[in-house]
Amino acid sequence: MSDLDYIFNTLLANTIKQYERREEQLQMAYKVKEVLDKNDILIAEAGTGIGKSLAYLIPAILWLKEDRRIIISTYTKTLQNQLLSSDIPLAKSVLGSPVVANVAFGGENYLCRRRFKNLLSEGAFLPFQMDELERIILWQKTTRTGLRSEAEEEGKISIWNDIGRGRNTCIGKLCKERPNCYYEYARRKTYSSQIIITNHHLFFANLSCGGKVLPKYDAVIFDEAHNLEDVATSYFGESVTNYTLTYLLREIKTKNISKIKPVLEATHDAGEDFFNSIKRKFISPSTRIKQPVDIKTDDLFQNLDTLAKILSNTEAGSEEEKADLSNLADRVKAVKTTIKRFISLKDPHSVYWIETNKNWIVLQSAPIDISDSLASTVFNGDIPVVLCSATITTHPNDFRFIKEKLGISSGTTIYLSSPFDYMNNSILYIPQDGPDPRNDRYPEFITNETEKLVKITEGRTFLLFTSYKLMDEVYTNLLYRLPDYNLLKQGETSRDILLERFRYGKRAVLLGASTFWQGVDVPGDSLISVIITRLPFDVPTDPLEEARIESLKKEERNAFLSYQLPKAILTLKQGFGRLIRKKTDYGMVAILDTRIRKKYYGKFFLSSIPQSKTASSIDEVKDFFIC
Ligand code: SF4
Repeated sequence: MSDLDYIFNTLLANTIKQYERREEQLQMAYKVKEVLDKNDILIAEAGTGIGKSLAYLIPAILWLKEDRRIIISTYTKTLQNQLLSSDIPLAKSVLGSPVVANVAFGGENYLCRRRFKNLLSEGAFLPFQMDELERIILWQKTTRTGLRSEAEEEGKISIWNDIGRGRNTCIGKLCKERPNCYYEYARRKTYSSQIIITNHHLFFANLSCGGKVLPKYDAVIFDEAHNLEDVATSYFGESVTNYTLTYLLREIKTKNISKIKPVLEATHDAGEDFFNSIKRKFISPSTRIKQPVDIKTDDLFQNLDTLAKILSNTEAGSEEEKADLSNLADRVKAVKTTIKRFISLKDPHSVYWIETNKNWIVLQSAPIDISDSLASTVFNGDIPVVLCSATITTHPNDFRFIKEKLGISSGTTIYLSSPFDYMNNSILYIPQDGPDPRNDRYPEFITNETEKLVKITEGRTFLLFTSYKLMDEVYTNLLYRLPDYNLLKQGETSRDILLERFRYGKRAVLLGASTFWQGVDVPGDSLISVIITRLPFDVPTDPLEEARIESLKKEERNAFLSYQLPKAILTLKQGFGRLIRKKTDYGMVAILDTRIRKKYYGKFFLSSIPQSKTASSIDEVKDFFIC
C-alpha cells in the first residue's frame, strides 16, 4: 500500500468519524503528487463532493517536507476560511506535520498607522466623519490585526481610502511607524509560512508588481480556478477614476506645503473639467472607446506636472517626510500617465471603456487576450501548478476552453465527476414551452412559474438572474403573489447577512444575480430548489466581451461556439451546483429559459451538467417532492 493509499484509506478514516472513502479523491491526490514531483501542470475538474481540498492538501504537505513554500489561491473568502480553520488543521494532524499556514491579505486591507496619525493630527476630516473616527480610534486600541474587515464589523468605514495602506502610499523603511505596522507584521508571518493561502486578486497583484507582495514560492494551487481569467484580466489592465485624483489632492493638501494651494486648486478644477467633459460626452453607464478621446487635457497635464515638480522640490524636514513627498509626486505622475495612455488608446491589444454613474467616472482598460501573458508568467514550466474547480470543462473531459483562455499548452488533466447520486436525488425541470427571454411576456412567465414552484417547495429557493432589471421586476411581482414568503433580494444588505437570513428564515426565497451563482454553500433542507431564469450568456455589448468577440471573428472563428457558449456553460454549471452540496441533499433545478429545449445549442448545456431525473410539467415536479 502506498503512502497516499494508507493516508486516505486508513489515517483519514480513523480521524474523521463519518469519513467515506472516495476513489476519485485518491485519484486526484495521486495526480497532484505526480505534477508536484515532476514540476508539471495539472488541470483537475473535481465534481462537488469529491473532497478536492484534502486531495491537494495531503500531497502538497508531503511535498513541503523539503523546505519549500506553496501558494494556495482561491476566489472566495469562504474557501479560504474553510482551508485555514478546518482542512489544513485536519491534514496536518493526520500527517503529524508542523507545517505553518497563514492567510495573506492585500495591503489595502490594513490600517496604515502613519496615514491615520497624519489624518488625526492634521484634523483633515469632515464633521460627519466624527462618529466613524471615534469608532476607529476605539477599535485601534484593541486590534491586533489592523484589518479592515475587523474594523467594519460594526459598519462601513467611508474614510478607509484616507487611512488604509493604499497600493502606492507606503513609504516603507523610512516610516517611523514601521516597527508597529500591521501590514509589516502580517507580512512577516506570511514570509515565515510554508503554506500561504491567498486569493486570485492578490496572486495577480503580486505578479503585476514583479513579486514584491508575496515571498518566493515553489508551487501554486489554484482552487476555484474557473475565475482565473476574469481576475487576471483586471490586473493586467489599468484604471483611473475621478476619485483617484480627488483623494490624492486631499492628501497633498494636508501637507501644508507653502505656495501649493493655488496649484492644488488649479489641478482640482482642471481635473473636474476633464472628468465632467468625459461625463457629458459619454453619457451611457458603460461606453467602449474605439477612437482616441478628443478632450482637452493640456490644462490638467500642465497642473499635474507643476504639482509633481513642487512635491519633488519641496525641502523635507526628515527622511520620512522626504519619502512621503516623493511617494505623492510619483502618484501624481502615475495619474497623468494613466490618463494619457487611456485617451490615446496606447495599447492596440487592449480594450478601453468608460463607466459612469451619479458620482463615479472610471477610465478603464484591459487586455483582450491574456493567454500569452499567463503562458509566460504562470504556466511557463518554472514551478508546478495545479488548477482545480468543480466547473472547468465545458463537456465531460473537454478542457480545451480553459486551456486556450489561460494559455496552457502542456501538462495533464483529470476529470472526476461528482460521487453524488443526482439521478435519484434531483430533478431538472424545463417547461415544455415558454416565451423567448427577449419577449415582453418573459418577466410575467418567470413570475408565474416561480410562484408555482415556490409553493411546492415552501420557499427554500434560490432564484438566479443574469440581469438586475429582470430581478427587480420579478421581485416586485412576487411581493404581491407570495405575501407569506420571506423574499430576499441581492443588494438589500450584504451577501453574508442575506445568506444567514435565508438559511434560518422560514419560507425563504433568495433572488440573486452575479455573486449568488457561485461560491455559495447552503447544504441541507434550507435549499431544495434552484431556479435559473435565463441561460447565462454574458451581455455581448459589454466592452470586453464585444472586443473578444470581434477579435475571434477577425481570426475567422465562430465566436459563439468557441467563446460565448462555453463561457455560459461554465456559469450554468456553477448555478446548477448550488443545489446538491452533500450526499443527503435533494431537490430541483429549474431552467426556465426554454431555448435550452428549442435551440441547437441547448444540448451542449444539458450534456455539461450531472444527469438527473427530468420534468416538463409542474405536476411532475410535485410528484418528485411527494415521493
Ligand atoms: S510601513 Fe507603510 S503601511 Fe506601515 S504604517 Fe508605515 S507607511 Fe503605513
